[in-house]
Amino acid sequence: MTLKLFNALTREKEDFKPVEEGKVSFYSCGQTIYDDLHIGNARAYAAWDTLTRYLRWKGLKVRHVQNITDVGHLTDDGDQGEDKVEKRAKEMGLEPMELVEDQIQRYFEDTEALNIQRQDIVPRATGHINEMIHYIDKIVENGYGYEVDGNVYFDVEAFAEDYPYGEMANKDLEQLKEEAQARVEHDEDKRNQFDFALWINADEGHLMKWESPWSVGYPGWHLECSVMSQKYLGDEFDIHAGGKDHIFPHHPNERAQAFAATGEGQARYWLHNEFITISGEKMSKSKGNFYTVRELLEEGFSGNAVRLYLISSHYRSETDFSIEGLEKAEKELKKLRKAYKISDGEGLEEKAEETERLFEEYMDDDLNTAKAKQALLELAGEVNSHGEASEEVGETLEQLSQVLGVDLSSSVNDSEKEMADMLTDLRDEARERKDYEASDFIRDRLEELGFEVEDSEDGSLWY
Ligand SMILES: [Zn+2]
Ligand SMILES: [Zn+2]
Repeated sequence: MTLKLFNALTREKEDFKPVEEGKVSFYSCGQTIYDDLHIGNARAYAAWDTLTRYLRWKGLKVRHVQNITDVGHLTDDGDQGEDKVEKRAKEMGLEPMELVEDQIQRYFEDTEALNIQRQDIVPRATGHINEMIHYIDKIVENGYGYEVDGNVYFDVEAFAEDYPYGEMANKDLEQLKEEAQARVEHDEDKRNQFDFALWINADEGHLMKWESPWSVGYPGWHLECSVMSQKYLGDEFDIHAGGKDHIFPHHPNERAQAFAATGEGQARYWLHNEFITISGEKMSKSKGNFYTVRELLEEGFSGNAVRLYLISSHYRSETDFSIEGLEKAEKELKKLRKAYKISDGEGLEEKAEETERLFEEYMDDDLNTAKAKQALLELAGEVNSHGEASEEVGETLEQLSQVLGVDLSSSVNDSEKEMADMLTDLRDEARERKDYEASDFIRDRLEELGFEVEDSEDGSLWY
């Protein structure tokens, strides 16, 4: 079966054909690292992690690169405003890199809790300033960039004579020009208002700055992804993914830089995830409708349930976040875990094979995790009402859940398993003696430890 992906360049689902057979080179735009991971970004990273897992499950060899932006992302997308990292560091009285180190650690803790595997390469922008300077050099040399007072700008008009520009946004040059005039504060130095900065001459008080042929300054935000993706994946690679806000200007600008420097347009497939809303509105800190992953975990939701929630909708559909939705995911997780746990008997192999076939069909359809999850839940429901299934069925449940990033088994280690078995045996003995006080006490204590306890024909069942 062939995987189809919705490609922003053509706005169509296309058969996925990698540049090199059997291998996939994949770049996704990562976190600007000044704040804790919120569920909107977590959704994107969970989607790209699921794509990586799925490609590997299908037998492809994947190299997944996802950057960390620790410099150059400004509070305003017209090359004005402050650097987001530097601004937050100043507010906190920290060196920018002090904030970055701390936030990176928290970021990895949060992503790990959601089973978002660490990408094969996680490059940081500040580690690639040299490469960026060389890259700008090439762009200027090729006639698509110009310098004014230590700033270097990308010349969109010159570029658009030779290459496509803005096709992801489905707009022509005139429209983009008008929009830029409305959106961006007027900048005297630019030949055209939709030109964007490759290098910015730093003000006196700017903390993060480097020597360059043009000025002591810092790179424009769009530059790092072009440079780092080329360095680790080559001039032409397979997939580039990011949030839908990147449809313009970030991704067209990245692609333009790549054409301008290398003659190749970077990735063949450009993927964009929709956003998470809260009560129908965009997440925003000032409105207070904003959730970080950390908050949700601290409130007692399990990382696996949050992950299950995040892949419960298709990545290209807008999804409205709610605590009830998370509670539902917690129940679904229990259902899956119970089915996995009781798959140590007989039966339902055919149903499992059918589920696996459906799972692949749904995932091949532009990664429809919503339907794939539903297929797994159906299988789990049947196992649970049947009361048992064969080990093969359990394996299917476990492996396909893994592809979605949901772990059915690992939360309990061997000694915890032994302890839970022993306590449920004790509870069964108490029930036989009709000592319900003791049996309830044991159940309550097990539940406090995070086990779910259920009565069944063969005695207490935990999972
Ligand atoms: Zn990107
Ligand atoms: Zn990027």
